[in-house]
Amino acid sequence: AMPLVTSVSTSLAAKNGLLIRNRVAFENARNLDTVVFDKTGTLTEGSFGVTDIKADSVSEDDLLAIAASVEENSEHPIARGIVEAGKSRELAMLRVTDYQNLTGEGLRASVDGRPVKIVSPGYLKREGIAFDEKSYSSLAGEGKTVVFILRENKLLGFIALSDVARPTAKEAVDELKQMEVASIMLTGDNQRAADYVARQLDINQVFAEVLPGDKASKIDELHRDGRRVAMTGDGVNDAPSLAKADLGIAIGAGTSVAIETADVILVKSDPLDVVGILKLSRATFKKMV
Ligand code: ADP
Ligand code: MG
Repeated sequence: AMPLVTSVSTSLAAKNGLLIRNRVAFENARNLDTVVFDKTGTLTEGSFGVTDIKADSVSEDDLLAIAASVEENSEHPIARGIVEAGKSRELAMLRVTDYQNLTGEGLRASVDGRPVKIVSPGYLKREGIAFDEKSYSSLAGEGKTVVFILRENKLLGFIALSDVARPTAKEAVDELKQMEVASIMLTGDNQRAADYVARQLDINQVFAEVLPGDKASKIDELHRDGRRVAMTGDGVNDAPSLAKADLGIAIGAGTSVAIETADVILVKSDPLDVVGILKLSRATFKKMV
């Protein structure tokens, strides 16, 4: 039978908006010294609005229609923002086939029979595709996420979107600091957007432009440094690192893959509840060691 102290803490946890799936990992949470946070949808609301569109050889509306037609197939917060913008301009959707997710880098599909990709700046850099670095840098410097649209491997333009930090994210980081627990940001988004959000939240260690597989390797690296690590995330791309961490924490509003992989679920999607987990674990299990 489960020890009384654990069943009490589990119901206390439930009252506090925490769903504990792995009791052993929860018990060990009292020893954590590092919390790694995904950015988009975890430290931020993950609710993107389109702020800027730059179209090169097509009209802005055409660019947005192409992007929105492809993004209709994705559940990513970026996708929802782009689809919403297309709807508000009442653009007609185009015929999309061969849709494919380029995990952590964007999407590809055929639009009216022509191959289209919607990708991160990191993808363009890796592929050696030139882009307007000046406008990109100034948008990214404002914390915006920028995605580029390619058709037949020719750049058609970009769409910039912005998101806001969750209201309690800074408080969570501050409280962790007081508990001598370090906060790290781990994101697939661009470095400048990541730094912008990290600065607002007083997070001084940032790993940006990290592909999903490499997110899990970062957890391994931290383990090799002797750190005891919780990972908090919401996306499909976070699942491997949630599994690797000593404690995997999923945002309740996140994707089902993240939720199924995690040890604890934040029912209210509130980053401050990460502090609650650590405090509850410390309070419950202190006397058991
Ligand atoms: P995060 O780690 O911040 O949650 P992701 O790993 O989900 O970010 O995404 C990393 C990057 O991949 C995004 O910033 C974007 O450039 C690109 N990307 C991911 N999904 C999409 C999408 N649906 N449309 C366009 N770009 C995308
Ligand atoms: Mg995310």
